Amino acid sequence: MDPQPSKTAAAAASKAATAGRAIPVTVIPGDGVGPEIVRSAMRIIEAAGVPIAWEEAEAGAAVFRRGDSSGVPRETRESIERTRVVLKGPLETPVGFGEKSANVTLRKLFETYANVRPARELPGVPTRYSGEGIDMIIVRENIEDLYAGIEHLQAPDVAQGLKIITRKGSEKVIRYAFELARREGRSKVTCATKANIMKLTEGLFKRVFEEMAPEYPEIAAEHLIIDNVAHQLAKNPAQFDIIVTTNLNGDIISDLASGLVGGLGFASSGNYGDDIAIFEAVHGSAPKYAGKEVINPTALILSSVLMLRYLGQGEAAATIEDAVLFTLEEGRAVTQDLARQVGGDIEHAASTTGFTDRVIANLGKHPSGGGARMRLPEEKVERRPAWSYGPERYAAVQRTLVGVDVMVESDLPVEALGDDLAQLAGDRFALAMVESRGTKVYPPIGLATDHVRWYRGRFVARDGVTLSEEDLVALLGRIAARHRWTEILRLQAFDGELAFTKAQGE
Ligand code: NAP
Repeated sequence: MDPQPSKTAAAAASKAATAGRAIPVTVIPGDGVGPEIVRSAMRIIEAAGVPIAWEEAEAGAAVFRRGDSSGVPRETRESIERTRVVLKGPLETPVGFGEKSANVTLRKLFETYANVRPARELPGVPTRYSGEGIDMIIVRENIEDLYAGIEHLQAPDVAQGLKIITRKGSEKVIRYAFELARREGRSKVTCATKANIMKLTEGLFKRVFEEMAPEYPEIAAEHLIIDNVAHQLAKNPAQFDIIVTTNLNGDIISDLASGLVGGLGFASSGNYGDDIAIFEAVHGSAPKYAGKEVINPTALILSSVLMLRYLGQGEAAATIEDAVLFTLEEGRAVTQDLARQVGGDIEHAASTTGFTDRVIANLGKHPSGGGARMRLPEEKVERRPAWSYGPERYAAVQRTLVGVDVMVESDLPVEALGDDLAQLAGDRFALAMVESRGTKVYPPIGLATDHVRWYRGRFVARDGVTLSEEDLVALLGRIAARHRWTEILRLQAFDGELAFTKAQGE
Protein backbone atom coordinates (compact mmCIF):
# COMPACT_ATOMS: atom_id res chain seq x y z
CA MET A 1 0.00 0.00 0.00
CA ASP A 2 1.61 3.27 1.05
CA PRO A 3 5.36 2.61 0.87
CA GLN A 4 7.64 3.99 3.54
CA PRO A 5 9.44 6.88 1.84
CA SER A 6 12.78 5.53 3.07
CA LYS A 7 12.12 2.30 1.22
CA THR A 8 11.40 3.78 -2.18
CA ALA A 9 13.91 3.14 -4.93
CA ALA A 10 14.21 6.89 -5.43
CA ALA A 11 15.14 7.52 -1.81
CA ALA A 12 17.55 4.58 -1.78
CA ALA A 13 19.16 5.86 -4.98
CA SER A 14 19.58 9.38 -3.57
CA LYS A 15 21.16 7.89 -0.48
CA ALA A 16 23.53 5.74 -2.56
CA ALA A 17 24.53 8.70 -4.71
CA THR A 18 25.05 10.98 -1.69
CA ALA A 19 27.22 8.32 -0.07
CA GLY A 20 29.27 8.16 -3.29
CA ARG A 21 28.00 4.68 -4.11
CA ALA A 22 26.75 3.65 -7.52
CA ILE A 23 22.96 3.36 -7.94
CA PRO A 24 21.91 -0.19 -8.84
CA VAL A 25 19.76 -0.43 -12.00
CA THR A 26 18.70 -3.53 -13.93
CA VAL A 27 19.36 -3.09 -17.63
CA ILE A 28 17.66 -5.31 -20.22
CA PRO A 29 19.18 -4.76 -23.68
CA GLY A 30 16.18 -6.46 -25.32
CA ASP A 31 15.61 -7.62 -28.89
CA GLY A 32 16.12 -6.18 -32.38
CA VAL A 33 17.40 -2.62 -32.13
CA GLY A 34 17.27 -2.80 -28.31
CA PRO A 35 20.99 -3.35 -27.61
CA GLU A 36 21.94 -0.41 -29.88
CA ILE A 37 19.68 2.13 -28.20
CA VAL A 38 20.31 0.84 -24.67
CA ARG A 39 24.07 1.15 -25.25
CA SER A 40 23.53 4.71 -26.44
CA ALA A 41 21.60 5.72 -23.28
CA MET A 42 24.13 4.02 -20.99
CA ARG A 43 27.05 5.85 -22.65
CA ILE A 44 25.32 9.21 -22.22
CA ILE A 45 24.46 8.57 -18.56
CA GLU A 46 28.05 7.59 -17.91
CA ALA A 47 29.34 10.69 -19.72
CA ALA A 48 27.01 12.83 -17.58
CA GLY A 49 28.78 11.43 -14.53
CA VAL A 50 25.90 9.57 -12.88
CA PRO A 51 27.32 6.57 -11.03
CA ILE A 52 25.12 3.59 -11.95
CA ALA A 53 25.86 -0.04 -11.12
CA TRP A 54 24.19 -1.78 -14.07
CA GLU A 55 22.93 -5.33 -13.54
CA GLU A 56 22.49 -6.75 -17.03
CA ALA A 57 19.51 -9.10 -17.35
CA GLU A 58 17.70 -10.95 -20.08
CA ALA A 59 14.08 -11.05 -21.27
CA GLY A 60 12.23 -11.62 -24.52
CA ALA A 61 12.98 -13.63 -27.66
CA ALA A 62 16.14 -15.46 -26.53
CA VAL A 63 14.41 -16.53 -23.33
CA PHE A 64 11.37 -17.84 -25.25
CA ARG A 65 13.74 -19.76 -27.54
CA ARG A 66 15.30 -21.46 -24.53
CA GLY A 67 11.86 -22.78 -23.64
CA ASP A 68 11.01 -20.38 -20.78
CA SER A 69 7.44 -19.50 -21.75
CA SER A 70 7.28 -16.49 -19.41
CA GLY A 71 9.98 -14.62 -21.35
CA VAL A 72 11.24 -13.21 -18.04
CA PRO A 73 13.63 -15.63 -16.30
CA ARG A 74 13.99 -15.96 -12.53
CA GLU A 75 17.40 -14.21 -12.48
CA THR A 76 15.85 -11.15 -14.15
CA ARG A 77 12.96 -11.07 -11.69
CA GLU A 78 15.40 -11.33 -8.80
CA SER A 79 17.55 -8.52 -10.16
CA ILE A 80 14.51 -6.25 -10.45
CA GLU A 81 13.41 -7.12 -6.92
CA ARG A 82 16.85 -5.98 -5.77
CA THR A 83 17.29 -2.82 -7.83
CA ARG A 84 13.59 -1.75 -8.16
CA VAL A 85 14.53 0.19 -11.33
CA VAL A 86 14.81 -1.05 -14.91
CA LEU A 87 16.07 0.45 -18.15
CA LYS A 88 14.98 -1.81 -20.95
CA GLY A 89 15.12 -2.15 -24.71
CA PRO A 90 12.06 -3.38 -26.64
CA LEU A 91 11.16 -7.05 -26.53
CA GLU A 92 9.82 -8.98 -29.48
CA THR A 93 6.40 -10.60 -29.23
CA PRO A 94 4.99 -13.08 -31.76
CA VAL A 95 1.88 -11.51 -33.34
CA GLY A 96 -1.38 -13.49 -33.36
CA PHE A 97 0.03 -16.69 -31.86
CA GLY A 98 2.62 -18.01 -29.42
CA GLU A 99 3.79 -16.77 -26.06
CA LYS A 100 2.42 -13.79 -24.15
CA SER A 101 4.31 -10.49 -24.43
CA ALA A 102 7.29 -10.41 -22.06
CA ASN A 103 6.83 -6.60 -21.87
CA VAL A 104 3.33 -6.94 -20.55
CA THR A 105 4.49 -9.72 -18.21
CA LEU A 106 7.17 -7.41 -16.76
CA ARG A 107 4.73 -4.54 -16.30
CA LYS A 108 2.20 -6.80 -14.61
CA LEU A 109 4.55 -8.88 -12.44
CA PHE A 110 5.89 -5.71 -10.85
CA GLU A 111 2.52 -3.91 -10.74
CA THR A 112 3.77 -0.86 -12.62
CA TYR A 113 0.25 0.46 -12.95
CA ALA A 114 0.90 3.88 -14.53
CA ASN A 115 2.43 4.06 -17.98
CA VAL A 116 3.53 7.66 -18.48
CA ARG A 117 4.15 8.81 -22.06
CA PRO A 118 5.07 12.46 -22.64
CA ALA A 119 4.59 13.94 -26.13
CA ARG A 120 6.16 17.34 -26.58
CA GLU A 121 7.07 19.49 -29.54
CA LEU A 122 10.82 19.12 -30.08
CA PRO A 123 13.20 21.70 -31.52
CA GLY A 124 14.66 20.73 -34.91
CA VAL A 125 11.87 18.20 -35.48
CA PRO A 126 9.47 19.97 -37.81
CA THR A 127 5.96 18.55 -38.02
CA ARG A 128 2.67 19.89 -39.35
CA TYR A 129 1.94 21.04 -35.78
CA SER A 130 5.22 22.90 -35.20
CA GLY A 131 4.71 26.13 -33.32
CA GLU A 132 1.41 25.05 -31.73
CA GLY A 133 3.14 24.13 -28.46
CA ILE A 134 2.18 20.47 -28.03
CA ASP A 135 3.23 19.43 -24.53
CA MET A 136 1.09 16.63 -23.14
CA ILE A 137 1.53 13.57 -20.99
CA ILE A 138 -0.54 10.47 -21.57
CA VAL A 139 -1.05 8.37 -18.44
CA ARG A 140 -2.18 4.93 -19.46
CA GLU A 141 -3.52 2.30 -17.06
CA ASN A 142 -1.02 -0.49 -17.43
CA ILE A 143 -2.37 -3.70 -15.92
CA GLU A 144 -6.07 -4.22 -16.66
CA ASP A 145 -8.53 -3.87 -19.53
CA LEU A 146 -8.19 -6.22 -22.51
CA TYR A 147 -4.53 -6.56 -21.49
CA ALA A 148 -5.77 -8.88 -18.76
CA GLY A 149 -5.33 -11.20 -21.74
CA ILE A 150 -8.11 -13.58 -20.72
CA GLU A 151 -9.07 -15.02 -24.08
CA HIS A 152 -10.95 -18.13 -25.09
CA LEU A 153 -12.22 -19.67 -28.26
CA GLN A 154 -15.86 -20.22 -27.27
CA ALA A 155 -16.46 -22.18 -30.46
CA PRO A 156 -13.98 -23.14 -33.20
CA ASP A 157 -14.54 -19.81 -34.98
CA VAL A 158 -15.66 -17.59 -32.11
CA ALA A 159 -13.03 -15.83 -29.98
CA GLN A 160 -13.77 -13.96 -26.78
CA GLY A 161 -11.54 -11.67 -24.69
CA LEU A 162 -12.52 -10.33 -21.29
CA LYS A 163 -12.18 -6.64 -20.55
CA ILE A 164 -11.42 -6.27 -16.85
CA ILE A 165 -11.68 -2.85 -15.19
CA THR A 166 -11.59 -2.54 -11.40
CA ARG A 167 -12.20 0.36 -9.04
CA LYS A 168 -8.83 -0.27 -7.39
CA GLY A 169 -6.90 -0.34 -10.68
CA SER A 170 -8.70 2.80 -11.88
CA GLU A 171 -8.12 4.68 -8.63
CA LYS A 172 -4.42 3.92 -8.64
CA VAL A 173 -3.77 5.31 -12.11
CA ILE A 174 -6.20 8.23 -11.83
CA ARG A 175 -4.65 9.24 -8.49
CA TYR A 176 -1.27 9.00 -10.19
CA ALA A 177 -2.42 11.29 -13.03
CA PHE A 178 -3.80 13.97 -10.69
CA GLU A 179 -0.71 13.87 -8.47
CA LEU A 180 1.50 14.14 -11.57
CA ALA A 181 -0.50 17.17 -12.68
CA ARG A 182 -0.13 18.75 -9.26
CA ARG A 183 3.62 18.29 -8.92
CA GLU A 184 4.34 19.26 -12.52
CA GLY A 185 2.18 22.38 -12.26
CA ARG A 186 -0.16 21.18 -14.99
CA SER A 187 -3.63 22.68 -15.20
CA LYS A 188 -5.91 20.06 -16.76
CA VAL A 189 -6.52 16.32 -16.69
CA THR A 190 -8.68 14.81 -19.45
CA CYS A 191 -10.19 11.38 -18.84
CA ALA A 192 -10.64 9.49 -22.12
CA THR A 193 -13.00 6.52 -22.21
CA LYS A 194 -15.53 4.68 -24.33
CA ALA A 195 -18.11 4.84 -21.53
CA ASN A 196 -20.93 5.54 -23.97
CA ILE A 197 -20.66 2.00 -25.33
CA MET A 198 -18.93 0.03 -22.53
CA LYS A 199 -21.03 1.42 -19.72
CA LEU A 200 -19.85 -0.86 -16.94
CA THR A 201 -16.14 -1.24 -17.77
CA GLU A 202 -15.09 2.11 -19.29
CA GLY A 203 -17.99 3.60 -17.30
CA LEU A 204 -16.38 2.53 -14.00
CA PHE A 205 -13.13 4.26 -14.98
CA LYS A 206 -15.06 7.45 -15.80
CA ARG A 207 -17.05 7.33 -12.54
CA VAL A 208 -13.89 6.89 -10.46
CA PHE A 209 -12.33 9.87 -12.29
CA GLU A 210 -15.38 12.00 -11.52
CA GLU A 211 -15.33 10.94 -7.87
CA MET A 212 -11.64 11.84 -7.46
CA ALA A 213 -11.54 15.10 -9.42
CA PRO A 214 -13.01 17.27 -6.60
CA GLU A 215 -9.98 16.37 -4.44
CA TYR A 216 -7.93 18.44 -6.91
CA PRO A 217 -9.91 21.69 -7.19
CA GLU A 218 -7.01 23.61 -8.75
CA ILE A 219 -6.86 21.19 -11.70
CA ALA A 220 -9.51 21.32 -14.42
CA ALA A 221 -11.02 17.88 -14.99
CA GLU A 222 -12.91 16.91 -18.14
CA HIS A 223 -14.13 13.70 -19.70
CA LEU A 224 -14.03 13.10 -23.45
CA ILE A 225 -15.00 10.02 -25.41
CA ILE A 226 -11.86 8.34 -26.73
CA ASP A 227 -12.83 8.58 -30.41
CA ASN A 228 -13.29 12.31 -30.00
CA VAL A 229 -9.90 12.45 -28.26
CA ALA A 230 -8.36 10.88 -31.39
CA HIS A 231 -10.16 13.48 -33.51
CA GLN A 232 -9.12 16.37 -31.25
CA LEU A 233 -5.52 15.09 -31.16
CA ALA A 234 -5.38 15.29 -34.94
CA LYS A 235 -7.16 18.67 -35.07
CA ASN A 236 -5.88 20.66 -32.11
CA PRO A 237 -3.42 18.63 -30.01
CA ALA A 238 -2.12 21.60 -28.02
CA GLN A 239 -5.40 21.70 -26.05
CA PHE A 240 -4.32 18.61 -24.07
CA ASP A 241 -2.26 18.70 -20.90
CA ILE A 242 -2.55 15.32 -19.14
CA ILE A 243 -4.74 12.54 -20.54
CA VAL A 244 -5.57 9.59 -18.30
CA THR A 245 -7.12 6.55 -19.92
CA THR A 246 -7.59 2.80 -19.93
CA ASN A 247 -4.93 0.44 -21.21
CA LEU A 248 -5.86 -0.19 -24.85
CA ASN A 249 -7.08 3.37 -25.45
CA GLY A 250 -3.79 4.61 -24.02
CA ASP A 251 -1.72 2.25 -26.14
CA ILE A 252 -3.27 3.59 -29.32
CA ILE A 253 -3.52 7.31 -28.57
CA SER A 254 0.02 7.46 -27.20
CA ASP A 255 1.38 6.14 -30.51
CA LEU A 256 -0.86 8.70 -32.22
CA ALA A 257 0.54 11.44 -29.97
CA SER A 258 4.12 10.39 -30.75
CA GLY A 259 3.27 10.74 -34.45
CA LEU A 260 2.30 14.37 -33.84
CA VAL A 261 5.75 15.30 -32.51
CA GLY A 262 8.05 13.43 -34.87
CA GLY A 263 7.33 9.72 -34.55
CA LEU A 264 8.24 6.69 -32.49
CA GLY A 265 11.94 7.53 -32.63
CA PHE A 266 11.23 10.33 -30.14
CA ALA A 267 8.62 8.77 -27.83
CA SER A 268 9.77 8.01 -24.27
CA SER A 269 7.95 6.26 -21.44
CA GLY A 270 8.09 5.17 -17.84
CA ASN A 271 6.06 2.40 -16.19
CA TYR A 272 5.57 3.38 -12.54
CA GLY A 273 4.46 1.25 -9.63
CA ASP A 274 4.56 2.16 -5.97
CA ASP A 275 8.28 1.55 -5.66
CA ILE A 276 9.33 -0.15 -8.88
CA ALA A 277 9.67 1.54 -12.24
CA ILE A 278 10.55 0.35 -15.73
CA PHE A 279 11.77 2.81 -18.36
CA GLU A 280 11.60 2.05 -22.07
CA ALA A 281 10.98 3.61 -25.47
CA VAL A 282 7.39 3.43 -26.70
CA HIS A 283 8.53 1.77 -29.91
CA GLY A 284 9.20 -1.92 -30.50
CA SER A 285 12.21 -3.92 -31.62
CA ALA A 286 12.01 -2.60 -35.24
CA PRO A 287 13.57 -5.87 -36.49
CA LYS A 288 14.29 -4.63 -40.01
CA TYR A 289 16.78 -2.12 -38.56
CA ALA A 290 18.41 -4.48 -36.04
CA GLY A 291 22.21 -4.32 -36.04
CA LYS A 292 22.28 -1.65 -38.77
CA GLU A 293 23.16 1.26 -36.49
CA VAL A 294 20.57 3.50 -38.15
CA ILE A 295 17.88 3.67 -35.49
CA ASN A 296 17.10 6.90 -33.64
CA PRO A 297 18.05 6.41 -29.97
CA THR A 298 16.27 9.59 -28.76
CA ALA A 299 13.22 7.72 -27.44
CA LEU A 300 15.31 5.57 -25.13
CA ILE A 301 17.62 8.42 -24.14
CA LEU A 302 14.59 10.48 -23.09
CA SER A 303 13.23 7.44 -21.23
CA SER A 304 16.51 7.27 -19.34
CA VAL A 305 16.02 10.97 -18.50
CA LEU A 306 12.69 10.00 -16.87
CA MET A 307 14.61 7.28 -15.02
CA LEU A 308 17.22 9.69 -13.68
CA ARG A 309 14.46 11.99 -12.39
CA TYR A 310 12.86 9.00 -10.71
CA LEU A 311 16.20 8.26 -9.07
CA GLY A 312 16.42 11.80 -7.72
CA GLN A 313 19.13 12.73 -10.25
CA GLY A 314 17.20 15.74 -11.50
CA GLU A 315 20.27 17.79 -12.41
CA ALA A 316 21.84 15.07 -14.57
CA ALA A 317 18.41 14.42 -16.11
CA ALA A 318 18.06 18.09 -17.10
CA THR A 319 21.64 18.16 -18.46
CA ILE A 320 20.98 15.15 -20.69
CA GLU A 321 17.57 16.36 -21.83
CA ASP A 322 19.02 19.77 -22.68
CA ALA A 323 21.88 18.11 -24.62
CA VAL A 324 19.36 16.05 -26.63
CA LEU A 325 17.23 19.12 -27.36
CA PHE A 326 20.34 21.12 -28.30
CA THR A 327 21.50 18.32 -30.62
CA LEU A 328 18.12 18.20 -32.34
CA GLU A 329 18.06 21.99 -32.62
CA GLU A 330 21.58 22.36 -34.06
CA GLY A 331 20.82 19.67 -36.68
CA ARG A 332 24.41 18.49 -37.11
CA ALA A 333 23.53 14.86 -36.36
CA VAL A 334 20.20 13.96 -38.00
CA THR A 335 19.08 10.33 -37.80
CA GLN A 336 17.52 8.57 -40.78
CA ASP A 337 13.94 8.74 -39.55
CA LEU A 338 14.12 12.51 -39.15
CA ALA A 339 16.02 12.98 -42.42
CA ARG A 340 13.22 11.10 -44.15
CA GLN A 341 10.58 13.33 -42.55
CA VAL A 342 12.27 16.59 -43.49
CA GLY A 343 13.31 15.47 -46.98
CA GLY A 344 16.96 15.50 -45.89
CA ASP A 345 19.99 13.52 -47.01
CA ILE A 346 19.25 9.97 -45.89
CA GLU A 347 22.52 8.54 -47.18
CA HIS A 348 24.53 10.83 -44.95
CA ALA A 349 22.21 10.63 -41.96
CA ALA A 350 23.76 10.15 -38.52
CA SER A 351 24.20 6.61 -37.25
CA THR A 352 22.91 5.64 -33.81
CA THR A 353 26.46 6.00 -32.47
CA GLY A 354 27.02 9.24 -34.37
CA PHE A 355 23.94 10.82 -32.82
CA THR A 356 24.96 9.54 -29.37
CA ASP A 357 28.48 11.01 -29.77
CA ARG A 358 26.95 14.37 -30.65
CA VAL A 359 24.69 14.35 -27.57
CA ILE A 360 27.71 13.56 -25.40
CA ALA A 361 29.64 16.42 -27.03
CA ASN A 362 26.70 18.71 -26.25
CA LEU A 363 26.37 17.89 -22.55
CA GLY A 364 26.27 21.24 -20.76
CA LYS A 365 24.69 23.13 -23.66
CA HIS A 366 21.15 24.51 -23.59
CA PRO A 367 18.58 24.73 -26.38
CA SER A 368 17.48 28.25 -27.27
CA GLY A 369 13.75 27.66 -26.96
CA GLY A 370 13.62 26.40 -23.35
CA GLY A 371 14.98 23.16 -22.04
CA ALA A 372 13.96 20.33 -19.76
CA ARG A 373 10.23 20.28 -19.11
CA MET A 374 9.33 17.75 -16.42
CA ARG A 375 11.08 18.80 -13.28
CA LEU A 376 10.35 17.33 -9.91
CA PRO A 377 11.83 14.08 -8.68
CA GLU A 378 9.43 11.21 -8.73
CA GLU A 379 9.84 10.56 -5.01
CA LYS A 380 7.67 13.65 -4.41
CA VAL A 381 4.58 11.84 -5.73
CA GLU A 382 2.05 11.48 -3.02
CA ARG A 383 1.12 7.80 -2.77
CA ARG A 384 -2.11 8.17 -0.87
CA PRO A 385 -3.69 4.75 -0.82
CA ALA A 386 -6.99 5.61 -2.43
CA TRP A 387 -7.78 1.90 -2.56
CA SER A 388 -7.86 1.41 1.17
CA TYR A 389 -11.32 -0.18 1.30
CA GLY A 390 -11.38 -3.17 3.61
CA PRO A 391 -13.42 -6.32 3.00
CA GLU A 392 -16.27 -4.80 5.03
CA ARG A 393 -17.08 -2.40 2.15
CA TYR A 394 -17.76 -5.33 -0.13
CA ALA A 395 -19.54 -7.36 2.53
CA ALA A 396 -21.97 -4.46 3.00
CA VAL A 397 -23.13 -4.57 -0.63
CA GLN A 398 -26.39 -6.47 -0.91
CA ARG A 399 -26.34 -8.94 -3.77
CA THR A 400 -29.49 -10.33 -5.37
CA LEU A 401 -29.44 -13.12 -7.92
CA VAL A 402 -31.87 -12.13 -10.66
CA GLY A 403 -30.99 -14.56 -13.44
CA VAL A 404 -28.25 -16.10 -15.51
CA ASP A 405 -26.75 -15.80 -19.01
CA VAL A 406 -25.82 -19.12 -20.59
CA MET A 407 -23.61 -19.24 -23.71
CA VAL A 408 -24.50 -22.05 -26.07
CA GLU A 409 -22.90 -23.36 -29.24
CA SER A 410 -25.66 -24.66 -31.51
CA ASP A 411 -26.39 -25.68 -35.11
CA LEU A 412 -30.15 -25.29 -34.67
CA PRO A 413 -32.04 -22.52 -36.46
CA VAL A 414 -32.34 -19.69 -33.95
CA GLU A 415 -36.14 -20.00 -33.59
CA ALA A 416 -35.81 -23.71 -32.74
CA LEU A 417 -33.00 -22.99 -30.27
CA GLY A 418 -35.00 -20.16 -28.67
CA ASP A 419 -38.15 -22.31 -28.39
CA ASP A 420 -36.14 -25.09 -26.77
CA LEU A 421 -34.33 -22.82 -24.30
CA ALA A 422 -37.69 -21.21 -23.39
CA GLN A 423 -39.03 -24.64 -22.55
CA LEU A 424 -35.90 -25.58 -20.57
CA ALA A 425 -36.29 -22.41 -18.50
CA GLY A 426 -38.87 -24.29 -16.42
CA ASP A 427 -41.08 -22.70 -13.81
CA ARG A 428 -38.36 -20.75 -11.90
CA PHE A 429 -36.88 -18.89 -14.90
CA ALA A 430 -38.22 -17.22 -18.04
CA LEU A 431 -36.15 -16.91 -21.20
CA ALA A 432 -35.82 -13.13 -21.69
CA MET A 433 -34.02 -13.34 -25.02
CA VAL A 434 -31.35 -15.04 -27.10
CA GLU A 435 -28.64 -12.90 -28.65
CA SER A 436 -25.84 -13.48 -31.11
CA ARG A 437 -22.69 -11.30 -31.11
CA GLY A 438 -24.44 -8.91 -28.70
CA THR A 439 -27.64 -8.40 -30.73
CA LYS A 440 -31.01 -9.85 -29.76
CA VAL A 441 -32.17 -12.48 -32.28
CA TYR A 442 -34.97 -14.22 -30.30
CA PRO A 443 -37.83 -13.57 -29.97
CA PRO A 444 -37.26 -12.51 -33.59
CA ILE A 445 -37.40 -8.77 -34.27
CA GLY A 446 -37.66 -9.25 -38.04
CA LEU A 447 -34.24 -7.85 -38.96
CA ALA A 448 -31.40 -9.54 -40.86
CA THR A 449 -28.97 -10.10 -38.00
CA ASP A 450 -26.37 -12.66 -39.01
CA HIS A 451 -25.75 -15.65 -36.71
CA VAL A 452 -22.53 -17.48 -35.90
CA ARG A 453 -23.70 -20.71 -34.20
CA TRP A 454 -22.87 -19.24 -30.79
CA TYR A 455 -25.58 -17.64 -28.68
CA ARG A 456 -26.31 -16.25 -25.26
CA GLY A 457 -29.59 -17.24 -23.64
CA ARG A 458 -30.70 -14.80 -20.95
CA PHE A 459 -32.78 -16.42 -18.22
CA VAL A 460 -34.42 -14.21 -15.59
CA ALA A 461 -36.36 -15.08 -12.43
CA ARG A 462 -40.09 -15.44 -13.00
CA ASP A 463 -42.27 -12.97 -11.11
CA GLY A 464 -42.21 -13.62 -7.39
CA VAL A 465 -39.40 -16.22 -7.54
CA THR A 466 -36.36 -15.82 -5.31
CA LEU A 467 -33.58 -17.69 -7.11
CA SER A 468 -31.21 -20.03 -5.33
CA GLU A 469 -27.91 -21.69 -6.28
CA GLU A 470 -29.83 -24.93 -6.73
CA ASP A 471 -32.06 -23.23 -9.33
CA LEU A 472 -28.94 -22.25 -11.31
CA VAL A 473 -27.42 -25.70 -11.16
CA ALA A 474 -30.72 -27.36 -12.13
CA LEU A 475 -31.16 -25.02 -15.12
CA LEU A 476 -27.62 -25.68 -16.29
CA GLY A 477 -28.21 -29.41 -15.94
CA ARG A 478 -31.32 -29.22 -18.15
CA ILE A 479 -29.48 -27.16 -20.80
CA ALA A 480 -26.36 -29.38 -20.70
CA ALA A 481 -28.48 -32.45 -21.40
CA ARG A 482 -29.56 -31.01 -24.78
CA HIS A 483 -27.03 -28.35 -25.82
CA ARG A 484 -23.29 -27.60 -25.76
CA TRP A 485 -22.99 -24.74 -23.27
CA THR A 486 -19.67 -22.87 -23.09
CA GLU A 487 -20.01 -20.33 -20.28
CA ILE A 488 -22.41 -19.10 -17.63
CA LEU A 489 -22.57 -15.64 -16.10
CA ARG A 490 -24.62 -14.71 -13.03
CA LEU A 491 -27.07 -11.86 -13.42
CA GLN A 492 -27.01 -9.92 -10.18
CA ALA A 493 -28.19 -6.68 -8.64
CA PHE A 494 -25.89 -4.85 -6.19
CA ASP A 495 -27.84 -2.80 -3.65
CA GLY A 496 -30.81 -3.04 -5.98
CA GLU A 497 -28.97 -1.82 -9.08
CA LEU A 498 -28.66 -4.21 -12.03
CA ALA A 499 -25.03 -5.29 -12.45
CA PHE A 500 -25.18 -6.15 -16.16
CA THR A 501 -26.11 -4.47 -19.41
CA LYS A 502 -28.80 -5.23 -21.95
CA ALA A 503 -28.14 -6.73 -25.36
CA GLN A 504 -28.47 -4.46 -28.39
CA GLY A 505 -32.18 -4.40 -29.22
CA GLU A 506 -33.23 -6.01 -25.91
P1 NAP B 1 8.17 -1.03 -34.00
O1 NAP B 1 9.26 -1.96 -33.64
O2 NAP B 1 7.89 0.08 -33.07
O3 NAP B 1 8.53 -0.42 -35.43
C1 NAP B 1 7.55 0.17 -36.27
C2 NAP B 1 8.18 1.26 -37.12
O4 NAP B 1 8.37 2.43 -36.33
C3 NAP B 1 9.58 0.96 -37.65
O5 NAP B 1 9.53 0.12 -38.77
C4 NAP B 1 10.05 2.37 -37.94
O6 NAP B 1 9.31 2.95 -39.01
C5 NAP B 1 9.54 3.11 -36.73
N1 NAP B 1 10.46 3.12 -35.59
C6 NAP B 1 10.36 2.44 -34.43
N2 NAP B 1 11.35 2.78 -33.61
C7 NAP B 1 12.09 3.69 -34.24
C8 NAP B 1 13.27 4.41 -33.88
N3 NAP B 1 13.86 4.27 -32.69
N4 NAP B 1 13.81 5.24 -34.80
C9 NAP B 1 13.22 5.40 -35.99
N5 NAP B 1 12.11 4.77 -36.39
C10 NAP B 1 11.55 3.92 -35.51
O7 NAP B 1 6.80 -1.81 -34.21
P2 NAP B 1 6.50 -3.24 -34.85
O8 NAP B 1 7.34 -3.43 -36.08
O9 NAP B 1 5.03 -3.29 -34.96
O10 NAP B 1 6.94 -4.28 -33.74
C11 NAP B 1 8.16 -5.04 -33.75
C12 NAP B 1 8.23 -5.90 -32.50
O11 NAP B 1 8.35 -5.07 -31.34
C13 NAP B 1 7.01 -6.79 -32.28
O12 NAP B 1 7.47 -8.05 -31.86
C14 NAP B 1 6.26 -6.08 -31.17
O13 NAP B 1 5.50 -6.96 -30.39
C15 NAP B 1 7.40 -5.50 -30.37
N6 NAP B 1 7.03 -4.32 -29.54
C16 NAP B 1 7.66 -4.21 -28.34
C17 NAP B 1 7.40 -3.11 -27.55
C18 NAP B 1 8.11 -3.00 -26.24
O14 NAP B 1 9.06 -3.73 -25.99
N7 NAP B 1 7.68 -2.12 -25.34
C19 NAP B 1 6.54 -2.10 -27.99
C20 NAP B 1 5.95 -2.23 -29.25
C21 NAP B 1 6.21 -3.35 -30.04
P3 NAP B 1 9.72 2.94 -40.54
O15 NAP B 1 9.48 1.54 -41.02
O16 NAP B 1 8.77 3.93 -41.15
O17 NAP B 1 11.15 3.35 -40.65
